[in-house]
Amino acid sequence: MSVSRRGFIKLLGAGTACLGLSKLGVDLAPAQAYAAGMKIEGAREVISICPFCSCGCNTLVHVKDGRIINVEGDPDYPISAGGLCAKGAALKSLHTSSERLTRPLYRAPGSAKWVEKDWNWMLDTIARKVKDQRDKDFTLKNADGVEVNRLESVFSLGSSQMSNEECAVAHQSLRSLGIVHMDHQARV
Ligand code: SF4
Repeated sequence: MSVSRRGFIKLLGAGTACLGLSKLGVDLAPAQAYAAGMKIEGAREVISICPFCSCGCNTLVHVKDGRIINVEGDPDYPISAGGLCAKGAALKSLHTSSERLTRPLYRAPGSAKWVEKDWNWMLDTIARKVKDQRDKDFTLKNADGVEVNRLESVFSLGSSQMSNEECAVAHQSLRSLGIVHMDHQARV
């Protein structure tokens, strides 16, 4: 009985089951030789979903010693058949990149310098600015007297680092403030 790469990865996850399979006559030698140099050898495989857009491509996430060591497309998933676009292919860096920002950065009006701020300061500042702008510009009715309840002087640009669920919550929050101008990088 031959074992495909995909099948062998599943067997790796099964751990001691491999020993039992060899006793049943399954020849694991070719697959074991292939896997010996693989970076995912000994890793646990978890099926997940790319969060970046509504295609929702399945991913295989390999975890070793509590750390993500590899993310790739899931060949068994019928929609994408193992394919990932550039954003999905770079998914691992979302968790592991040394360039990943973990604290808010603020650039004051007119300044070229980014300054690290704590979350409380940042959230209070954003809330204050949105509230002041809304108080100033909120439109109850348009020129024809039709009720519109909108705020046109605030624009929101989402990030591709937001998951679908975060985008849904952000969208509802923006709508509740009357904000009508918004976009999101993940749909590009
Ligand atoms: S961003 Fe790319 S990989 Fe991720 S779900 Fe959308 S199409 Fe798939």
